[in-house]
Amino acid sequence: MFDVGRNRLLALSNMSNIRSEEIMDKAHFGVHELTSSRFAFFCGKMEDNIKFVYTNCSDMQILSYWKSFISLLFPPLCVSCENVLLNQEAFICTMCHYHLPINDHHVFLMNELTQRLIGKAPIYTAAAYLSFSKSSSVQSIVHKLKYRDDYRIGKYLGKCLGKQLLLSPYYGSLDVVVPLPLHATKKRIRGYNQSEYIARGIAEVMSLPVNQEDFIRTINTETQTKKSRMERYDNLEDAFSCITSSVFENKHVLLVDDVCTTGATIASAARTLVEQCNCKVSVAVLAMAR
Ligand SMILES: [Zn+2]
Repeated sequence: MFDVGRNRLLALSNMSNIRSEEIMDKAHFGVHELTSSRFAFFCGKMEDNIKFVYTNCSDMQILSYWKSFISLLFPPLCVSCENVLLNQEAFICTMCHYHLPINDHHVFLMNELTQRLIGKAPIYTAAAYLSFSKSSSVQSIVHKLKYRDDYRIGKYLGKCLGKQLLLSPYYGSLDVVVPLPLHATKKRIRGYNQSEYIARGIAEVMSLPVNQEDFIRTINTETQTKKSRMERYDNLEDAFSCITSSVFENKHVLLVDDVCTTGATIASAARTLVEQCNCKVSVAVLAMAR
């Protein structure tokens, strides 16, 4: 993090070494050629060459320059290690991404997650992109996704999961992606449903529609973590409902959640979908607890 910041400061302090003719020679440069240091110099010369800005840059280029400028002042950080990200990195640095505990559930119909859920709900198959344990980097990422408004990381990791599912023979017949709904009160308090962003990432990669209107949570269940396994099942009975069951009838639905611990919540939702809508349900979660 410090190295990158220092390099940028050095670039700023060395700006005077770049001749103004040089930047003018780049009147037709592409966005990819505009490095941070050149952009910093460019900003310094912006007032002098204001006509150049308006006559030689498209709206997209100006937006790109502006983003680069903002990232100079507020560099984006890795959600895991919090080091400054490089230009080509998004949300997670290359090193942290390399060390993520990524599963291969999509390769196996009857994998660890399917086995955890199959006795509780009549699902077809299931996949968790990551595994997580206490104090792991994945737990930190999930925490930021759920409680610190870093919901864009959900869509990014949803896309990663979607790319995995595209390679699997078991998800080719999917019709629709449905995020596990939050109760309206809980969503209002949190401001967003993190599963919805994961679902949107998956759907975008797999070119599928997202339906978040026709499957709802009718009971605002208390936090599940302090209850026994049996109490969780009791509490979750009838917690979900389909508003328009015909929407999912005879469809292959991908039910998406952020984290699977015991699987009680997602199993209850899958049971409701199958029983009320007569559909085939598969499950995809961002992470499963070991
Ligand atoms: Zn990192």
